[in-house]
Amino acid sequence: MLARLALAAGAAWVAYAWVAHLATPLCVHRGPRAAGRRIALTFDDGPDPAWTPRVLDVLSAHDVRATFFLVGERAARAQATVGAIATAGHEVASHGWSHRSLWLCGPRRTAEEIDRAGDTLTRLTGSVPRFFRPPWGMVNAAMFPILRARNLRPVFWSIQPEGLQPAPADAQVAHVVRRAHPGAIVDLHDAEGTRGAPERLVAALPAMIEGLRAQGYTFATVGELLAPGQ
Ligand SMILES: [Zn+2]
Repeated sequence: MLARLALAAGAAWVAYAWVAHLATPLCVHRGPRAAGRRIALTFDDGPDPAWTPRVLDVLSAHDVRATFFLVGERAARAQATVGAIATAGHEVASHGWSHRSLWLCGPRRTAEEIDRAGDTLTRLTGSVPRFFRPPWGMVNAAMFPILRARNLRPVFWSIQPEGLQPAPADAQVAHVVRRAHPGAIVDLHDAEGTRGAPERLVAALPAMIEGLRAQGYTFATVGELLAPGQ
């Protein structure tokens, strides 16, 4: 009996967490071809009071606007940094409240993660986030209807120069420049990620931007990329 219950619970979890991933190819991973040679740089897991300002400096020096997928509880602890991101004209989007994998969240916790982050970012920036990136790219079946009800679009990425393994700054530059394509969404980390990720990012970012510009790319926020002409 117990074994059968455990099996049923396991099957339910697989359906809730894993099968939900079948829907992710339908989500946004890149901009439309009509976006032309535009690329969105996106920064996850911040804000970090030490590293995010250094990323902002690089972006400002190169006249690039980008999208920051912020973790709600970190935003609440680093409000001045959130203000600096918004004031510089970057787009603020949601990366959940605590960066907990949605594989570990039931429907109620999933809604809490999304809503608490959304409310906090709205209060700190004065505008309602339009995009949500699930932590670790992991989704569950409850996430989709909740996001739809909140008018939040799930956004993944088409280029990720550093995943779970650290990659040296020059390798990250080469990775992004080689894989660049019209409408690309590049996933970067200005906080957390693998150990030392923000430091490698700050080292890589100037050459990454210059390399993409040399190929004729311009930069857009995710919102601009998904709505060309607006
Ligand atoms: Zn993340």
